[in-house]
Amino acid sequence: MQNKITILGIPFDNMTRKEFLERLYERMNKKEKTFLVTANPEIVMYAHDNPDYYKLLMEADFIAPDGIGIVQASRKLQTPIKERVPGFELMLGLLELASLSNKRVYFIGAKEDIINLTVSNVSEKWPDLEIAGYHHGYFNHEDPQMIEKVKATRPDIVLVAFGFPRQEKWIKSYLAAADYGIAVGVGGSFDVLSGKTKRAPYLVQRFHIEWLYRLVKQPSRYKRMLALPYFIREVYRQNKKEETI
Ligand code: UDP
Repeated sequence: MQNKITILGIPFDNMTRKEFLERLYERMNKKEKTFLVTANPEIVMYAHDNPDYYKLLMEADFIAPDGIGIVQASRKLQTPIKERVPGFELMLGLLELASLSNKRVYFIGAKEDIINLTVSNVSEKWPDLEIAGYHHGYFNHEDPQMIEKVKATRPDIVLVAFGFPRQEKWIKSYLAAADYGIAVGVGGSFDVLSGKTKRAPYLVQRFHIEWLYRLVKQPSRYKRMLALPYFIREVYRQNKKEETI
């Protein structure tokens, strides 16, 4: 089984959710700085078209295959990935782990009311979790003071919910300044954790049609969703190229 599986230039770690959590836990205990990315087809296509963002992703310590689209692409390219590792579930796994092992978590991102609700829901679900701190995501992301503020709370895990590519840019600067910690971009996850946005119902998730569900719920996002057919076309192209080599 290959350790890394490359899809459109992005090297995914071929691990199950459980293996990701084990590796992250090990690194946390060794106080190693860790840049974790959970990449879905939209992120892959954005990196494909934006060299600076691509370079940024190449600095990640782990890239998790977020979404069935990535898993299907890996099968098409005859390098199957073990399983899909949804970013949202990896984040829940990290929270569970942190709560069991007294690790400190900082939450940064989303609107003020959303972050407040997120933190109150999280502390209800994991009463033992050590919340190092939290802050909304609407500040100047270039401001080094915020990095110092977060760092001063000594978090083992920093969950950054600004949406890509903003969150990965901020994480790079944060980790450059921090002494240790895992930092991961979690996109719109706080909107879901806060209870304001519902995750797709079980059956929708089961049949892998979350994209359709989101399109119906938030039609304004259709432009972003065009990334998916574009992704599929590029995967077919990569496959053809490999067949002719
Ligand atoms: N967000 C933020 N700061 C910003 C922009 C967005 O904290 O400067 C948050 C936003 O409130 C939401 C999450 O990032 O909780 C993802 O936002 P969105 O879905 O709009 O991301 P995008 O569409 O840009 O990927």
